[in-house]
Amino acid sequence: MFVDKVRITVVGGRGGDGAVAFHREKYVASGGPDGGDGGHGGSVVLRVNDNLSTLLDFRYKRKYAAQAGVNGQGRKMAGKRGENLIIEVPRGTVVRDAQSGAIICDMSGDEDFVLARGGRGGWGNAHYATPTRQVPRFAKAGLKGQERDVILELKLLADVGLVGFPNVGKSTLLSVTSNARPKIANYHFTTLFPNLGVIYVDEGVSFVMADIPGIIEGAAEGAGLGHDFLRHIDRCRLLIHVVDVSGCEDRDPVADFEAINRELADYSEDLASRPMIVAANKADLLPPDSDNLQRLQKAAEAAGCPFYVISAGTTKGTRELMRAAAGLLRQLPPVKVFEPEYVEEIAQAVRPEDFQIEHYGSTWLVTGEWISRLVENINFDDYESRNYFDQQLRRCGLFTRLEEEGIQEGDTVDIYDFEFEYQK
Ligand code: GDP
Ligand code: MG
Repeated sequence: MFVDKVRITVVGGRGGDGAVAFHREKYVASGGPDGGDGGHGGSVVLRVNDNLSTLLDFRYKRKYAAQAGVNGQGRKMAGKRGENLIIEVPRGTVVRDAQSGAIICDMSGDEDFVLARGGRGGWGNAHYATPTRQVPRFAKAGLKGQERDVILELKLLADVGLVGFPNVGKSTLLSVTSNARPKIANYHFTTLFPNLGVIYVDEGVSFVMADIPGIIEGAAEGAGLGHDFLRHIDRCRLLIHVVDVSGCEDRDPVADFEAINRELADYSEDLASRPMIVAANKADLLPPDSDNLQRLQKAAEAAGCPFYVISAGTTKGTRELMRAAAGLLRQLPPVKVFEPEYVEEIAQAVRPEDFQIEHYGSTWLVTGEWISRLVENINFDDYESRNYFDQQLRRCGLFTRLEEEGIQEGDTVDIYDFEFEYQK
């Protein structure tokens, strides 16, 4: 079974809590605070594996959670960080946000992608010891990991996509021109999942061709198999439209050609306007008195498509066709890689005003998802950045709330790795 679209939930591991502990030793009157930090939670990371060709594995497992960070302990022992969870996907998997449909990433390259970040570990009380505050009886809790509902969608990476009715010889063409060994049979719907093959035309000249399951009429409206599979040729730079000209199945090649073109147009205008070569196949079976070739050639030329006569079965004309494809590809833009549409997801998912304040004497601890990310992205050595930070804190209402809760001039405000003295 070929699965090319799934919905899953991914959750980063929770950060471990910081510890509150005090150094104890025989004959030492009062030891200092020595609670260690909690470990960061592990992240959920996507990685391409070229041995995978479907999303089948995701069908039976829907939730993926990375390991939590371990809590800190006394003796300044930091908790272990949670392990990342690596999820392997086939190359060409496009990841979307399940709610908005926005593209989060396109797993076409070799870079790993962090899909759900682990939560930060909380600081232990050892972190909070200062000359004026020697007995901090508090530590910070770890943060929750990021949680996301996403849709994984496989969109193959191929330069050329073969289209055409079932049984016209697409798989045969791929098998005689490339290293791929697709299933070939005189049976409709033999191809149940896409096959990719590399075609070597000349030294240093090669391209990838995909054979997708036959498109059948009404596919774009979801009538048959083809609909789902059209997305696989979304990215192809060039289409080779294979038409059976033999008429041996009582089909009319011109009617077939037009029907497939209609399907493409129904699916997307963009796909319909993709450069296309028409390959008149099974020429070896063409009855001598048939005008099929001439009629198809006219239709192809009217549509602005280069026209080639081949016999995939005997390989006649296939080399010329592949050369022509390589020639066209040279002039076409590279395979489309989708840009993330998720520019600033912080703005959508976490609200700036969602923060918590705790206070222990004159120390005020501020925690919250948005604020934690803000701190992470500020360069405190830079004046502009510090100014921006200050503005953001004002805008999210932090100072107003601190005032309401009774903060005093000179108290300490502690926001993750950042601490400052409060001034009105
Ligand atoms: P697909 O469904 O478009 O992938 O078609 P296949 O490649 O599976 O081919 C369907 C049938 O047509 C198989 O029996 C092939 O052997 C046969 N076939 C394909 N190309 C040719 C050809 O050029 N000449 C002849 N005589 N038979 C062909
Ligand atoms: Mg096939």
